[in-house]
Amino acid sequence: MKVVVDYDLCEANAVCMQHAPKVFRVEEDDTLTVLLEDVPAEEQESAREAERLCPRQAIRLTD
Ligand code: SF4
Repeated sequence: MKVVVDYDLCEANAVCMQHAPKVFRVEEDDTLTVLLEDVPAEEQESAREAERLCPRQAIRLTD
């Protein structure tokens, strides 16, 4: 599973980081870093939750 973020939609509110902190990190300058672009099996449930809950629908997970 891979993570794709639409940075034009992302508003760096850190909802994804709350749900999947090993995958997403919002930096102090309010930019989003994807820590694991290739999501390992143990993080996939958290990543799906982040995708579902992103208020901007900026996260897309691909197989
Ligand atoms: S939850 Fe969505 S809008 Fe918020 S920081 Fe993550 S990707 Fe960006």
